[in-house]
Amino acid sequence: MKRRFLALLLAAAPLSAQSIDQMIDAEMSSLLATYQQLHAAPELSMQEAKTSAFLASQLRALGYTVNEKIGKYDDPSATCYGVVAVMKNGNGPTVLVRSDMDALPVTEQTGLEYASKNAGVMHACGHDIHITTLLGTAKVLAQTKSKWHGTVMLVGQPAEEVVKGAEAMLEDDLYSRFGTPNYAIAVHDHAGLPAGVIGYFPGYFMAGADSVNVTIRGLGGHGASPQSTKDPVVMAAQFINALQTIVSREDSPLDPAVVTVGSIHGGTKRNVIPDEVQLFMTVRTYKPEVRQRVLASIERIANGVAMAAGVPTERMPVVEVLKGESVEATYNDPALTERVAKALTAGMGETSVIKIDPLMVSEDFGRFGLGGKIPTTMLNVGAVDPARLASGQRLPSLHSSQFAPVPEPTLRGAVKAMTLAVMELLR
Ligand SMILES: [Zn+2]
Ligand SMILES: [Zn+2]
Repeated sequence: MKRRFLALLLAAAPLSAQSIDQMIDAEMSSLLATYQQLHAAPELSMQEAKTSAFLASQLRALGYTVNEKIGKYDDPSATCYGVVAVMKNGNGPTVLVRSDMDALPVTEQTGLEYASKNAGVMHACGHDIHITTLLGTAKVLAQTKSKWHGTVMLVGQPAEEVVKGAEAMLEDDLYSRFGTPNYAIAVHDHAGLPAGVIGYFPGYFMAGADSVNVTIRGLGGHGASPQSTKDPVVMAAQFINALQTIVSREDSPLDPAVVTVGSIHGGTKRNVIPDEVQLFMTVRTYKPEVRQRVLASIERIANGVAMAAGVPTERMPVVEVLKGESVEATYNDPALTERVAKALTAGMGETSVIKIDPLMVSEDFGRFGLGGKIPTTMLNVGAVDPARLASGQRLPSLHSSQFAPVPEPTLRGAVKAMTLAVMELLR
């Protein structure tokens, strides 16, 4: 009787961090092989056919119920390669774990043996690390079903780099078909943290992004007769300078915002004043009210510059916010983030789990939270050799043709963190 009680007690005891380490050790050579295979065969956003099929087959072999091609893009002729893998294990909450799958139009210059074999395409954002992490986490969870209760919902998301994939999967009734999660978590690699170290941040973590096109319209004419024109080149110059006051004068210094004109086009010849100049911009903000104000300021300033120049009303500027290329900020639910960070610190040690600064880059993972209805958190995992980091040399950032995570410690940290996080939420 006593022995039976002890056995019950042991089965109910949480899995120790050491035994997770042993399981990850046993898997490491196969995880590294998977990572290298994925790295060598990157696929662009919305074209993740082979990557998603591979992920789906691996998850199926681990005992998950897998569905493929989940997702609907605006363009009905485009196939969406979303993967959903579910493992139900008794009563308890549902945890969504997401990995993105797409690569970038970058020509790899790492010189690695397992460098991309697809010319002009590279996993330069480390989404291959994320897919491998999802598989490693899936394996440990499938092996330890007596230690957690509830449902694990693994999501392979396409088209993150164009911020379309999460929305497409939700549009395809992801939650009504496969269940609404109680929590959603994800991990992204970080090009400025030591390999395997986990970074977390409660609150606004990644910025919302808006793509804005502005067409400054004037009245063209001869370059030697400016008096008979309204010069859009001069107006564009004034507009760019005036934009600088949005962040420096209109915005609170405590609310991060970026307004960048990344591209400007106008004119054909030295002595021709063109009819219009086009400016392509990116705007980054956290809070929805700041976002609305900054976008309104851009329009107001564009109109103001045109009015000051005496442009006729029918030639006022055209300001366009591109809906399909905009995404809200990624908000890490503070309670969920602190809870996960605490569990990770207990399992990985204080020096391996650190609070980091938020970022102005953007992500569409937050969409899985349905505007705050479902608590979400995105962790980061360091991917850089600590010695290189300590040397102070300039390191390649994410999206660089030179970006090369140190696979083993990065995967070890990421798999352990995601496993511990799921186990904490499904205790
Ligand atoms: Zn990226
Ligand atoms: Zn990324």
